[in-house]
Amino acid sequence: MSEQHSDWMAEARALIGHEYGRIYAWDAVNQPMIRQWCEALGVSNPLYLDGERARARFGAHVAPPTMLQAWVLAGIKGEFPAGSATDNPYEVLQIIERNGYASVVAVNSEQEYFRYLREGDRLSFTSQIESVSEEKTTGLGTGFFVTQLLNFFDQDDNKVGQMRFRLFKFRPAAVREKPALPARPQPGVSDENRFFWDGLKAKKLLIQRCSACGTLRNPPGPACPSCHSLASDHVEASGKGTIYSYSVVHHPALPDMPQPNPVGLIELEEGVRLVAGLVGVATDNIRIGAPVALEFLDCANDLVLPVFRPLGGAA
Ligand code: ZN
Repeated sequence: MSEQHSDWMAEARALIGHEYGRIYAWDAVNQPMIRQWCEALGVSNPLYLDGERARARFGAHVAPPTMLQAWVLAGIKGEFPAGSATDNPYEVLQIIERNGYASVVAVNSEQEYFRYLREGDRLSFTSQIESVSEEKTTGLGTGFFVTQLLNFFDQDDNKVGQMRFRLFKFRPAAVREKPALPARPQPGVSDENRFFWDGLKAKKLLIQRCSACGTLRNPPGPACPSCHSLASDHVEASGKGTIYSYSVVHHPALPDMPQPNPVGLIELEEGVRLVAGLVGVATDNIRIGAPVALEFLDCANDLVLPVFRPLGGAA
């Protein structure tokens, strides 16, 4: 144990092995509860559902072993029958919680069965804290694994089963500040279009311009379609445009993509067109000619994509 926990952790560990209980079952093992439990869990084994078969083998109706804990659960009001102990078996969790480990998660549960439970058996149980781990750090946070051992007895005080229940009592790891960014496919970046993708990272939508005749073109390419000049620079688009056409992609559904995925062919006010995602609009409300405004979508791996938001109604 680390030094800083030594005082209160010693108090917690002093409770290891202390026996809590005993808690009594509300009802004896009975056939109606067995039948309902089997129905709820989809168990069709005739051993539990056919009384004659069970009596031939065991001399009595028997319960599925995994019902063990069901027989001793508190009622819906959280109460146990008269005569049950009222001590608190979770003292150790309260000590850990008081010292800054407020969260809890169930980790695993293991049951062992020593004999079939028969109709008429009346169960009771006791519990104890079996172990408290060293401080551990997991993906959830930092804290302690606490193992509780429940011992189940019949009316003659014979042990019929036991259950280990393990919890992790922890202080949550710091929550990530920003939600995960969508991991969109990466574009093919070449010397011809690098300015376009770099521009998006700087939150600018850049349009290639022929240095010879001034014609704008998109997508980027090596030569001017008007004058065939290979010289070019670029200008920044205003971000205003209209929906020239669009499509709504329903299939395939892709991770990190909207589903369905509306994609617009945007006519920018500079006169060139651009394929880009549409955001902030129900797919039924997309209208050709509607004015749109540019936004930038931050994606994983430093990718920034241009997307367009329709501005209130069709043009
Ligand atoms: Zn040109």
